[in-house]
Amino acid sequence: ALGALFALSPLSVMAVEERASALVKELRECFNTGKTKNYEWRVSQLENILKMVEQREKDILSALHKDLSKPQQEAFISEVSLTKGSCTLALKELKHWMMPQKVKTSMTTFPSSAEIVSEPLGVVLVISTWNYPFMLSLDPVIGAIAAGNTVVLKPSEIAPATSSMLAKLLEEYTDNSAIRVVEGAVAETSALLEQKWDKIFYTGSGRIGRIVMSAAAKHLTPVILELGGKCPAVVDIDVDLQVAVRRIIAGKWACCNGQACIAPDYLITTKAFAAKLIDALILELKVFFGDDPMESKDISRIVNLYHFTRLSKLIDDYKVSDKIVLGGQRNENQLKIAPTILLDVPEDSLIMEEEIFGPILPILTVENLEDSFAVINSRSKPLAAYLFTNNEELKKDFVKNISSGGMVINDTILHVTVSGLPFGGVGESGMGSYHGKFSFDAFSHKKAVLYRSFEGDSSTRYPPYTPGKLKLL
Ligand code: NAD
Repeated sequence: ALGALFALSPLSVMAVEERASALVKELRECFNTGKTKNYEWRVSQLENILKMVEQREKDILSALHKDLSKPQQEAFISEVSLTKGSCTLALKELKHWMMPQKVKTSMTTFPSSAEIVSEPLGVVLVISTWNYPFMLSLDPVIGAIAAGNTVVLKPSEIAPATSSMLAKLLEEYTDNSAIRVVEGAVAETSALLEQKWDKIFYTGSGRIGRIVMSAAAKHLTPVILELGGKCPAVVDIDVDLQVAVRRIIAGKWACCNGQACIAPDYLITTKAFAAKLIDALILELKVFFGDDPMESKDISRIVNLYHFTRLSKLIDDYKVSDKIVLGGQRNENQLKIAPTILLDVPEDSLIMEEEIFGPILPILTVENLEDSFAVINSRSKPLAAYLFTNNEELKKDFVKNISSGGMVINDTILHVTVSGLPFGGVGESGMGSYHGKFSFDAFSHKKAVLYRSFEGDSSTRYPPYTPGKLKLL
């Protein structure tokens, strides 16, 4: 598909742009009718999405298997169930979320009342990614609909089965005058980015995030950027080691085989403890994926050859070739890479320079765990940071001294399942957040409204200004 797009003639590029412009015009006209602002319309669309996920679960799981060999159970938990949860919560809470929020007024405005009114922004664009291609597409769309917007979703071309399934299913189940899917890659996304949107919600790499933000700046369009980074996990020596490594493995290899934005990217532990930690990881990996993980049906494959080659280069880098303590096996035809662990890789190796986004886990060692703070803080702020410890002081210090999008103490990734917590990055891991009510807020404008009556008009604020009036102020 990419090849075909690069071969586009200037004329057909023009056609793509014209189609994008016509689409936005159509959705704006729909928004201007006021239809999507109605509570009933929002509820009906959210109910339709819930019905779609329930009725088409098999198709969804099968598309995810085609794109990533995602194990059914893993896909059910992380894609189907989480999406259903977001929809159910929005349906339950929407009336409450939509209610104006009363606030206190000031003496200057007496008598008066004031409230914050959440209003939809208008026509919004959601550009999604390929690792959780179903959930990461629909979750923001649910927020956009709950907030009363019209919305265009651009799923990732790198997960083509899920992309075309989303296009088909949303057309079948939802109101197409307000909710649309545009499939495609760079040409289509670029054409969409040329248009004037009221918000752009982008999930993906920082490199493309910069392109999105520059395009948005031309129209002063606000953006939410859900990006990535290198998420650290610090492991203390006093932990319940079996539980800790099971949770590390669950967050790394049982999450799309490391292709998750909040998967632990590298571990830090003490020099003295590293061997014990590695032994425990090896033992539990065997329990999870058997003696030969290359044969396991419970682990996703690498998404495509580009990423397979990129990850292979990280393992083959001459600076780390003697640091492999587990794994390294690969099968290019099947796009499989076994869980791979490296010990004490140099700071300037490729693997420590970029986000790994795959099944390789380097372990760095320090003399004292407190030294891990400097290692983490010398890099860009990560999307998530993890700490395994029973030491209360260390927990407090970690929360206080490490800046990251989110963090979990004594587990990995589970903060995404808590709808009361905002999900998003900080610094290079992104800007803005969503999930639960934060998704509704992400696609709403908070309008400040002050109500006055004609009673109690005071002349002190009006000219002519006199010393007498000043005294009354
Ligand atoms: P990507 O940035 O390459 O692609 C994402 C989207 O951008 C796709 O829809 C694609 O069509 C579009 N795109 C690609 N090239 C473009 C261009 N030149 N102009 C305009 N649009 C373009 O990202 P990716 O490889 O799909 O995702 C990997 C990154 O995403 C990782 O860094 C990961 O951590 C991050 N991620 C973040 C989250 C999160 O929730 N914060 C979730 C998943 C992935």
